[in-house]
Amino acid sequence: MDIDLLISQLSLLEKAKLVAGYKFMLTYPVKRLNIPSIVTSDGPNGLRKQSNKKDNGVNVSEIATCFPSSTNLASSWNIDLAYLEGQAIAKECKYYNVNILLAPGVNIKRNPLNGRNFEYYSEDPYISYKIASHFINGVQGENVGACIKHYAGNNNEDLRFVGNSIIDKRSLNEIYLKAFEKVIKEVKPACIMSAYNKLNNVFCSENKELLTTILKDKWNYDGLVMTDWGGMHNKINSLKAGLDLEMPGDNKYNVKQIIDAINSNQLDIKDLDRAVRNVLKLIDKYSKVSKLNSLDFEKHSQLARKIAEDSIVLLKNEKDILPLNTNRKYLVVGDLFSKMRYQGAGSSMINPYKIVSPKDGFDKLKIDYEFELGYKENQIEVDEYILNSAINKAKEYETIVVFIGLTDYFESEGGNRRDLKLPVNQLKLMEELIKLNKKIIVCLFGGSVVELPFLDKIQALINMHLPGQEGGLACSNVLFGKVNPSGRLTETWIKKYEDVPFYKEYNSSFNEVYKESIFVGYRYYLTCQKEVNFPFGYGLSYTKFEYSNLEIKKDNKIIKISLNVKNTGNRYGGEVIQIYVSNLIPNFVKPYRELKGFDKVYLKPDETKRVEINIDINDLSYFNIKQDRWILLEGKYLIQACKNANETVLSQEIFISGEKYNCPYSKEINDIYLNLEFDKVDNRIFEKMSNLTIPKLESKLPLTIESQFKDLQLTKIGKLIYKILMMYVNIDLKRASKLKPGPKKDNRIKGALFLKRIFNSNSFICMSNSSAKQLTYNIANGIVLLANGHVFKGIKSIFTRIKLPKEK
Ligand code: BGC
Repeated sequence: MDIDLLISQLSLLEKAKLVAGYKFMLTYPVKRLNIPSIVTSDGPNGLRKQSNKKDNGVNVSEIATCFPSSTNLASSWNIDLAYLEGQAIAKECKYYNVNILLAPGVNIKRNPLNGRNFEYYSEDPYISYKIASHFINGVQGENVGACIKHYAGNNNEDLRFVGNSIIDKRSLNEIYLKAFEKVIKEVKPACIMSAYNKLNNVFCSENKELLTTILKDKWNYDGLVMTDWGGMHNKINSLKAGLDLEMPGDNKYNVKQIIDAINSNQLDIKDLDRAVRNVLKLIDKYSKVSKLNSLDFEKHSQLARKIAEDSIVLLKNEKDILPLNTNRKYLVVGDLFSKMRYQGAGSSMINPYKIVSPKDGFDKLKIDYEFELGYKENQIEVDEYILNSAINKAKEYETIVVFIGLTDYFESEGGNRRDLKLPVNQLKLMEELIKLNKKIIVCLFGGSVVELPFLDKIQALINMHLPGQEGGLACSNVLFGKVNPSGRLTETWIKKYEDVPFYKEYNSSFNEVYKESIFVGYRYYLTCQKEVNFPFGYGLSYTKFEYSNLEIKKDNKIIKISLNVKNTGNRYGGEVIQIYVSNLIPNFVKPYRELKGFDKVYLKPDETKRVEINIDINDLSYFNIKQDRWILLEGKYLIQACKNANETVLSQEIFISGEKYNCPYSKEINDIYLNLEFDKVDNRIFEKMSNLTIPKLESKLPLTIESQFKDLQLTKIGKLIYKILMMYVNIDLKRASKLKPGPKKDNRIKGALFLKRIFNSNSFICMSNSSAKQLTYNIANGIVLLANGHVFKGIKSIFTRIKLPKEK
């Protein structure tokens, strides 16, 4: 493709159309100049290639392999599997003619209530970067482009369209941007997707600091920047800020904005041409997919199982009750046994090639068992009949295997969870079972942390997360010892929601102020010595490992750490050696320790391996907020080989030469953060620490194009419009719940619930930009005017058409 020539031949209208998508997932084709469309598709745990068939607003997608969730992949701590998963998904892309995969997501899990945590890797940027970069290498090795997302500070699904993440520069650079930075510099993903939310008062899709200063000037990124679907606010501001492609596009209003702005010199043609060039570069590089005519879905299914097995985290195993004996008979309780929750809901939802539930797994291993429902997965209230039947049956058994977890009614993209509790009917089941004093083994499903009030009373707990289509066999293989669990948590499992820093403030205002700064996840719990259920990095095994002979060498670039790891038990198994570093420089605000390296090894009984882990010395730098740059501090650092964030096995101090510490904060601020006096961090202190201003909240009335749909309820006419729209959404949900039980029904319900959440949280502008053909800008604007009581203006806007110049 001669890109310069094409740019000179394209008309203004064609250029304006090229910098936006087409038919929801494609780029715009210019037939006249032989510029083809390329196809984008979600997502992080499998391919969601949307077919044209509508299914309650969320389109049906082609059959694909549903890999375990991102949480699972990260919990495997296995970079080779991350590569293989990326590669397998890319092959499915090639089979279905998809050019760009909208994955991976590397947002940090700041708060466990965020409904989309299952789609992200961790609360820690280092493991996120490691998994993401290998995943992307797998994808791009097949010549399919990867799109890393959601850039940046996208940590609250309820407010994702309207929220303003206010993040001080230190935690922004050290925590929230870190995985993006490392991945972009090292593996160069084809695209990056801007997040819906605002970052420090400016929408990410028009945030020049994010899109140009940081991404292009500092990180030298030369790929393409696209919006999230509908995440455009002001097309001209976006182009000026460095945004290239608006998705899904097909939006006459925005095309006209560009034409008018160029004609009136409000937009420099150079900004438009830069975006056009990046779109053409992407099309040129990725349009030539070497189509795969056949695909071994079964092979991918086996890979999905392997990843699930590697990601299962054994959290408790009192008196080595696990693995279970295949020759004994067990009572199994819980609807999730046959209706396993294997994936999350939303844009990443896969139409799976097959589903292997734990029941299928038990049957395959020929386990003798009796089953009791105990509760219904799609109900919240206790069903006394089902409950009593399970409890009566349980009296006859010594060991009971219980399947519980979060269901789709609680956790999905597009909304947050209300609390960290399991559904009431499941909690009641646990309560009653515990009263019987039997041995209880719990298999837990769900995308993020839940409170475990029964933890002390059960004998074993395995955390499945959302293990993908083969999760049931993976689960059975671990329960019965065919596989030795080796997953480790990548998110701290706290005791109760109130343990989260600033828990009361989360989701309480459009301004989401990140007052805890760098103290996110274990960086907070560990430094503040909070007791947790399970620390970051935690996970048990059926065997034991010993570490010895720690050796550390360094030059001025790399710290080389090596140690022996020996399997001292009597089973083959995997161990994750985690290297944390503590900065020992006094008076310096920092977390107790931070993950800076890891390796996973698999060892036979008695086998020893020498493990070598390198740390890039620059990764020990901190971001100085005053000088706006990274600084490597001179002083002592403690290198620790750990089993998890709370358990050090071997350690050694080293000295690093660098700059002398010069505190960037005032004494007041430094003392507060140094002494971890978070109760003193109010808006004033945060503003002083960060040098940012927390903006005043605007009144919700009159409604504007940026208002949320649910705010329609604030006016009389708006209420009526809202009711009509919700009726449409609820009808879908009803229809879905009447379908025959099976995966189709499950997916329809998930789709309908997702839509309901989206309707409520979305803003008029984002909704209009993501469905520009149906809800044109003028219609959206008309609804806003109507709801504000401007009936004539509203009707006029609804019926006004946007006219574009004729195509050549
Ligand atoms: C999600 C993105 C996704 C896009 C396209 C959005 O709502 O936030 O992650 O890639 O839809 O489906």
